[in-house]
Amino acid sequence: MLRKILIANRGEIAVRIIRACHELGIKAVAAYSEADRDSLAVRMADEAICIGPPPPAKSYLNAPALISAALISDCDGIHPGYGFLSENPYFAESCRECGLTFIGPSADSIQRMGDKALAKQAMKLAGLPLVPGTENPLTSVEEAQSLADGIGYPVLLKAVAGGGGRGMRVVNQPDELARAFNTARAEAEAAFGRGDLYMEKYLPVVRHVEIQILADQHGHAIHLGERDCSLQRRHQKVVEEGPSPALTPELRQKMGEAALHGVREIGYYNAGTMEFLLDHQGNFYFMEMNTRLQVEHPVTEWLTGLDLVKWQIRIASGERLTLTQDDIKIRGHAIECRINAEDADRDFMPAGGTVDLYLPPGGPGVRVDSHLYSGYRTPTNYDSMLAKVIVWGETRLEAIERMRRALSECVINGITTTLPFQLRMMNEPAFVSGDVATHTLADILNQQA
Ligand code: ADP
Repeated sequence: MLRKILIANRGEIAVRIIRACHELGIKAVAAYSEADRDSLAVRMADEAICIGPPPPAKSYLNAPALISAALISDCDGIHPGYGFLSENPYFAESCRECGLTFIGPSADSIQRMGDKALAKQAMKLAGLPLVPGTENPLTSVEEAQSLADGIGYPVLLKAVAGGGGRGMRVVNQPDELARAFNTARAEAEAAFGRGDLYMEKYLPVVRHVEIQILADQHGHAIHLGERDCSLQRRHQKVVEEGPSPALTPELRQKMGEAALHGVREIGYYNAGTMEFLLDHQGNFYFMEMNTRLQVEHPVTEWLTGLDLVKWQIRIASGERLTLTQDDIKIRGHAIECRINAEDADRDFMPAGGTVDLYLPPGGPGVRVDSHLYSGYRTPTNYDSMLAKVIVWGETRLEAIERMRRALSECVINGITTTLPFQLRMMNEPAFVSGDVATHTLADILNQQA
């Protein structure tokens, strides 16, 4: 078992990983940037090492600084969290070359799934249904035009190196294609350093349903059911829940088995998520695989009673996954609301400042993952997420009622947050009905405008 782990991340996820380390009797070292000197992770960790100035490129994306910090502090493992270097195969490989255990899959798996075109090729071989479209990068606008004619409009241009909804463009008709192609390519080039695009049929009415998997390094894999992340703004998740109101036990089993076929195809290990689009007829299509812990992992933790971060660490240590598929029982309903420092009344403009008073909600069935405390100042260099409120209820309705209660209790004074917006979501008839698709939130927001 690993003895001492460097956390190559910040914010709530750094705190979450430290908690798992401490429950396992493992020492945790916080790697922090100058902007995070006063962070909760630094306070909670056993040791802390400054890895550079505030800009991510000089700190949380600075692989040599992180690896040096791990070696100097006598760590034997590195947990990358999500974002930053978590899906960078070179970082995973560099850790290994320096004798450090990367808490995640192999560099090869990260590489293959990080290239969306290669990922689709691999999953096609595994027999998974794909969204109709191309499995190779597009070489020119002309090629894109003839492929789009074959697929049929609307089509979606996506970045091969994509993530976070960037480099994505819906094209409704042929005369929009050339322009969309050029802007999507420029956006992808700027965001990922790689402008390659591929094309999918745009499915207008679908849900985003993803399957969580766990696999050890000895060939044993299980799935932990699904999370429904259909409430999205600009292709980014806003609310996540499980089980999906759209899944029957049969469909859950079918999607879970499909996810495991994919896992076996590439010899994947550690925690991972297979993302699918699901239509009204119960057809599902593989979209992409995330080769890391996800923001919304606590939803699955509530439903299964398992600790995913502890399992990540055990698997990375070489332990066997002692759970079988039959051990996995999904109980009740869980919902997660992301609380961001943003002004929902001003097109979600980023906000920030000092938290004068922080009073997190509590009581039965409420979990808060956050790095906030009263007096905390938000740095300007990083993403805007302040907290995740995750609730559990016997039924979906009880979970919604509990979330309303928890959000009403929560106090974050001094900063504009999306707390009021999330409370509104919990009262939106469209969300409460459970009949949510990926366009639902845009419809709600447009109606208001
Ligand atoms: P990223 O990696 O940038 O987050 P994803 O491939 O995960 O991109 O897609 C993000 C979201 O975009 C999905 O959850 C879905 O709402 C939407 N989306 C992606 N592909 C399609 C498609 N072919 N048709 C309709 N919506 C799509």
